[in-house]
Amino acid sequence: MTVALDCQSCGACCAVFRVSFYWAEADDAPGGTVPAALTRQISPQLRCMAGTEVAPVRCIALQGEVGRSVACGIYEQRSSTCRSVQPGDAQCLRARERLGLAVSAGSGS
Ligand code: SF4
Ligand code: SF4
Repeated sequence: MTVALDCQSCGACCAVFRVSFYWAEADDAPGGTVPAALTRQISPQLRCMAGTEVAPVRCIALQGEVGRSVACGIYEQRSSTCRSVQPGDAQCLRARERLGLAVSAGSGS
């Protein structure tokens, strides 16, 4: 059983993975939403959120302190990759584990 994970006191998935997505999700393409200035081109087809292509990883749009209190500065404009991670799913738990945050019930968060 997993705890009810609260993204606003976490942010691990924004500080562990390279957050990449199809280039046209950025707002310099028709219909794109992610601010292009906050992205980096990593291949002809792909961009990633700036700060997630380097170590230590931290998305440039992430505000606050990971594991305590965070917010996404572009929440409504975030990529499909960001939207796809759900609290408690495999990627979420992997990110939290990587940063030493609780992944199971009863062990706090
Ligand atoms: S999806 Fe999981 S790892 Fe990402 S912020 Fe939410 S609780 Fe943390
Ligand atoms: S854009 Fe927002 S949700 Fe996506 S990785 Fe950055 S801080 Fe996290």
